Amino acid sequence: MITLTRPNRINLAESVTPGVCAAEAVGLTKTYRRGAETVYALTEVSFSIAEGEMIVIVGPSGAGKTTLLHLLGCMDTPTSGQLYLGGQPANSLSDSALTRLRRERVGFVFQHFGLLPTLSVLENVMLPTIFSRRQTRHRAEELLEQVGMAHRLSHRPNELSGGEMQRVAIARALINSPTLLLADEPTGNLDTASGEAIIALFKSLNETGITIAVVTHNLTLAAAAHRRLTLKDGRLISDSSHHIASPQEGISP
Ligand code: ADP
Ligand code: MG
Repeated sequence: MITLTRPNRINLAESVTPGVCAAEAVGLTKTYRRGAETVYALTEVSFSIAEGEMIVIVGPSGAGKTTLLHLLGCMDTPTSGQLYLGGQPANSLSDSALTRLRRERVGFVFQHFGLLPTLSVLENVMLPTIFSRRQTRHRAEELLEQVGMAHRLSHRPNELSGGEMQRVAIARALINSPTLLLADEPTGNLDTASGEAIIALFKSLNETGITIAVVTHNLTLAAAAHRRLTLKDGRLISDSSHHIASPQEGISP
């Protein structure tokens, strides 16, 4: 049961110093058209993630978790509301500036790994740097070493286990040195032991200072986080670090 004191925007304003958040969502709403119907995937979601924090996003299927993660990763744009990444208003940027912001700040780990089957492990990790002229082979090798995959550089994804593919996907997400790492059910397709290795990897990455937001049903992963956000029917119904006002229960400022 949630005890309510104030609407969440007031809590946000009290707890957040502008400019120091890794990400801040203000009234994020996302709707989809389905025939004549409007589907509210997210409704007025507001919260912020401090630099260095590790948060988990939980909630039943269809709650809007993937939609929220895609908005945080600038892979989609909200219908209304604003997202700030490192203090920059992402939804007010031009397409090219947004692409640059995403490339420089965000790493994304997909539930189904998203590796290209025709490329080797090393090439998959180097892929996000295709448009930058930086020398990345050495960094890709270092990251693969860090995730315990240095012995599989020239393997193809179909020669790897699920846990190994996910470790490669994490190395790929880190290649541009993001400050924010986003992951959508990263242990959802893994056996327990592989999942635990991935959780340990996220913890150690977070200890190096990377901010992490991860959608998960995994209780061990949820327990490893500093904070838990719960979505239901597109609304943020609880935040373990704040009390959140629901629309029914909210008290006007
Ligand atoms: P979760 O990841 O929590 O399971 P999603 O963010 O994938 O939830 O979806 C939230 C809601 O938005 C669901 O009701 C889903 O059916 C709907 N939805 C998601 N993507 C689309 C889309 N492209 N078109 C229409 N509805 C969508
Ligand atoms: Mg999802």
